[in-house]
Amino acid sequence: MTPYDASPPAQSRQTAALTDGLGRKVTYLRVSVTDRCDLRCVYCMAEHMTFLPKAEVLSLEELDRVASVFVGLGVRKIRLTGGEPLVRKGVMTLIERLSRHLKNGALEELTLTTNGTRLAAFATDLARLGIRRVNVSMDTLDPDLFKRLTRGGSLAQVQAGIAAAAAAGLKVKINAVALARDNAAEIPELIRWAHERGHGITLIETMPMGEVDEDRTDQFLSLAAVRAELASYWTLKDLPLNTGGPARYVEVAETGGKLGFITPMTHNFCEGCNRVRLTCTGTLHTCLGQEDATDLRAVLRAGADDAGLIAAIAGGVDSKPKGHDFRIDRGSAPSVSRHMSTTGG
Ligand code: SAM
Ligand code: SF4
Repeated sequence: MTPYDASPPAQSRQTAALTDGLGRKVTYLRVSVTDRCDLRCVYCMAEHMTFLPKAEVLSLEELDRVASVFVGLGVRKIRLTGGEPLVRKGVMTLIERLSRHLKNGALEELTLTTNGTRLAAFATDLARLGIRRVNVSMDTLDPDLFKRLTRGGSLAQVQAGIAAAAAAGLKVKINAVALARDNAAEIPELIRWAHERGHGITLIETMPMGEVDEDRTDQFLSLAAVRAELASYWTLKDLPLNTGGPARYVEVAETGGKLGFITPMTHNFCEGCNRVRLTCTGTLHTCLGQEDATDLRAVLRAGADDAGLIAAIAGGVDSKPKGHDFRIDRGSAPSVSRHMSTTGG
């Protein structure tokens, strides 16, 4: 039997839940399925990126195998990301394979974060395979600014993708990176746009990850300040939603919509962190803001059985750092040298 034929690994299914050295239970896996993307957002990538050679990237079979071992270890939620997950060749085959864990109840949720450029083509299939929600990144409603921020992207294409996702019955959440110079003034309009269409929206503070061409410090916008400004004319009601991540949510009484704030730079959320990340090269990162890494690809390609893979995963998770160390005041030098597109946002 090839690993790709394997159902959830029986051996791993019996293994105790994945718990780190500080007693935090890991139930959420983010998988970056590719480092490639059809956009080049200024805060995420350099204009001329060198992408990884194919041999370094896990095959669809390898991604399925590792993710499935995590499911066997108690992971209940998987988010596919990238790079742009929908540009990975064969990604729908991977999603179809992983959806077996939804069908048998081992996985509660399989979802993805996408830039939306290919959503119009994939939305119906995603819904058919059991995907219930998608996060779509859109930082502005201005087509020219969108084109500049993404270095060439089409806002109309992304909005058509969002509409297609909604029409296919997927719940959509908009992700918008808050940028002091570029979109600060239109944040209320973005929120209104999303809420009018029944979508939630989450604002994200810029994080110093990977070398990009711009200086990110002058674009840093504190979401505490944004929240205070919004609260001067809207009623923001705290929602007791805890996702185990850096997002905090409110309901905007005037629009009836949900608004999230992801503030990794200013908010300490690490004590309740439930997540780990797998890069497209098979590296396990247990903290977005630290350089800790476990090379699962080496273990996989050395021919390890599930027990070997489980031992490597458990070892990596055991030493999950207590917390991150992001500091924007380090100037434009990134705190973590890998790009968000490699780690998966
Ligand atoms: N390509 C997909 C997308 O754009 O949604 C998925 C990958 S992208 C790396 C995931 C999220 O990370 C996006 O919402 C993006 O805006 C965000 N992101 C990328 N670089 C970032 C940075 N330096 N700081 C904060 N957020 C960032
Ligand atoms: Fe691509 Fe997403 Fe990074 Fe933009 S944020 S360059 S869409 S991976």
